[in-house]
Order: sequence, then structure tokens, then C-alpha cells
Amino acid sequence: MASLVNSFSYSPSQWGQFETCHRQYWFSRYGSWGGWEKNCHPLTREIYRLKKLSNRYLWSGSRVHEAISGILKSFQAGNPIDPELEKQKLLQRMRQDFRDSKSLPPGEIPPKGSYRFVEHDDQEMAIIDSAWKEIVEKSVVALENFFLSEPWEWIRSLGPDCLLRTDEILESIPFQTDGVDFPVYLSIDLAINDPEGLIILDWKTGKPSPKSHQPQLDLYAYYAVKKLDCPPDKVRTGAIYISSPERKVTLEYSSGKIMEETHARIETHTRTILSKIQDPFNGIANKDEFAPTPGAYSCKSCFFRRVCENAY
Ligand code: SF4
Repeated sequence: MASLVNSFSYSPSQWGQFETCHRQYWFSRYGSWGGWEKNCHPLTREIYRLKKLSNRYLWSGSRVHEAISGILKSFQAGNPIDPELEKQKLLQRMRQDFRDSKSLPPGEIPPKGSYRFVEHDDQEMAIIDSAWKEIVEKSVVALENFFLSEPWEWIRSLGPDCLLRTDEILESIPFQTDGVDFPVYLSIDLAINDPEGLIILDWKTGKPSPKSHQPQLDLYAYYAVKKLDCPPDKVRTGAIYISSPERKVTLEYSSGKIMEETHARIETHTRTILSKIQDPFNGIANKDEFAPTPGAYSCKSCFFRRVCENAY
């Protein structure tokens, strides 16, 4: 079997990590590489294990996303949807995740599809029981808000055929910066065909922050233009903040200018990261090139805190 190569790629979340702390990006992209192999260095294995951890916020977001995705697929298949039953299913799944995380022996890598929470793994990140209860309740409320949201109403009135994307499938766009070819990865939560064009939506379970979320939405529009051949002015994007009961969604039209800005942004981001990588094709990057940015906020929630000599 051909061996895996850690070749360069870009995604909004990778950039977010790089912006937070270059060293955190290095741990995640390079320090952890090969940590699944039987005879790897113990430190590499530990970095890989830490990368596989989750926290309560990421967990809540991904379980709510999965629940919505399942509901949309079921709607597409013509099945009746029972909101109460869906909420119960989410609750049961989260309770099971909690038990799985708590019972995983320390030092073990969580099996695919299950969770090990950093709050269980790192004593300094432990939280009280009521905080767990709170996050589970918030997740169920987010699902309730999905059923009250404007997009759910649109989908039901347009019918199952309007759904173009209902999943978090990993999509990619080929890109080149300074002669280096690489994929730009993204995953679209929901794309709807309506009489005016394409609507791309992103579920957000965190606090509303339209300004900081717009570049990510613009990247989705860029994907629709490049890969689905949509004219830019026929694509609208919006974030749905299901942590709040606000049911209306603000849609932004895309444009040729937004496409140019998005292209330039990816180019700038990737040029910055690539300037620190020795060999982007073979995954060779020197740790020292990725300066740590210790800080009370970033280090406190960083999964690599216990292997980082610069942790705040
Ligand atoms: S612990 Fe702090 S300095 Fe170290 S990688 Fe994480 S965020 Fe960066």
C-alpha cells in the first residue's frame, strides 16, 4: 500500500488555528503526523492523541450538525419528521458520548465516531456537572431552534428536491499559490435551490458573529461558482444562529468582487503559511519556524498544552 503523504492543504479552520498560534498549527498538522503508526515516537503518538480530543463546545456543535443533517436526509427520503423524537435521539446520543468519554482509559485514542473530552482528559480543564448539563440542554434548544427557523420553513415549502447539499461532505477546490498546487477544503452544511438561485447556509451553535463568519460563507460561494458553475450574483449565503431563537436569516448576495477578494484572501493566507514550510509536498516543516503565541486565552483551551513547552 502506498504510504500517506502529508501534503499541504488549506481550510478556514486550519487558518483559524494558524492565526491563533502558529505552534498550535504545527502540532496539529506536522507534530501529530504518523501518530497512528505502531512504532512511532511516543511524543508523536501523544500529540496525535491530543489532536483527537474534543471539548464540550465542539462536541455540541458537531452532534447538532449531525442531527440536522440526519433530519434533512430523512426529509429528502420522504419520511415524516417528528421534532420530539429527534430531540430525544440527540439527548440519548450525547448521554452515550459522555459515558464513552468518561470510561475511556487514560492515554487511549478514542475510537472513530466516539469522543474523549479534554475536560475528562486534562484535570486542569475539568468542569462541574452542571456545566455538562447546561451544554446538553443548549444543544437540544439549538435543535428546537432549527425547527423554528426560516430555512426549515423554506425547505418544507420548496420540497425535498430543493436540497442540493445536506451534509458535511468534505469538498475541495484546486488552488495554486506561488507555483504550489494544493486543495482548499470546505464542507457545506446546507445548499438550497430556490427560484432566485442558490442559497448556502451554515448552522452556527456559538454566539452570533456575522462579521467574522462572512469570509467562510464567501468561500462557500466561491466553491459554488468554481465547482457548480453558478453565476456569482445567483448565490446567496447566510449563517443561521440556532443558539438563539431568532428565526430570520440575513442572506448576502455574492458578486464578482467577493470572488476576487476571496481568491486574494486564500492566496495571502496560504502564502503566509507556506513561507514557514520547508517542503509542502512531502510534509516537512521545522517546529522552530512556527512561533508559539502563549496567551491566557489561547493556551487555556489548547489541546496541546501538556506537550507545549511554551504554554502560558
Ligand atoms: S499551549 Fe499556547 S503556545 Fe503552546 S501551542 Fe497551545 S496555544 Fe500555542
